[in-house]
Amino acid sequence: MKCPHCNYEDSKVTDSRDVDDTVRRRRQCLDCGYRFTTYERIQTGNISIIKKDQRRESFDRGKIARGIHKACEKRPLPTGTIEKLVDDIESELMSTGRAEIRSSAVGEAVMNRLKELDHIAYIRFASVYRDFADITSLKKEVDTLIAGKPLASQLPLIPGEDFSTPVKRRKAGTVKKP
Ligand SMILES: [Zn+2]
Repeated sequence: MKCPHCNYEDSKVTDSRDVDDTVRRRRQCLDCGYRFTTYERIQTGNISIIKKDQRRESFDRGKIARGIHKACEKRPLPTGTIEKLVDDIESELMSTGRAEIRSSAVGEAVMNRLKELDHIAYIRFASVYRDFADITSLKKEVDTLIAGKPLASQLPLIPGEDFSTPVKRRKAGTVKKP
């Protein structure tokens, strides 16, 4: 991405966020320091997702991003982590070079990445996606995580965080003292 000010070829990304199916990036020229914004969208028009009931729908980056955002809600992730994750998943799917991809493959790709990123977000996503039939199958998944190798930079657990019930948004000032 050439700098619109001095035409230098390289820039660094200072901020990145998803806006629908577009990624808005704040960039800074590595030469003159000029700041500019780019909107990027990967060409995905020719990829179809095959759903469980065999219906096809076109690939929707925003849908994946929303699912991941939900799973990562209130997790102490550095800015841009989720966008990077969605980028990685998108390129992984695109790099298969296939015109049709099963929705299950998309789900697995998301889970594999989340597993490496944050176990709480992973369990949240998996509990929706895998539709754990009961607490035993959920416990089994958690046990597998605990038995596996710890993440290089596992995030701290938020005290009181409970993923057995849906995460509710707490309004400031409405929390009653016990
Ligand atoms: Zn420049």
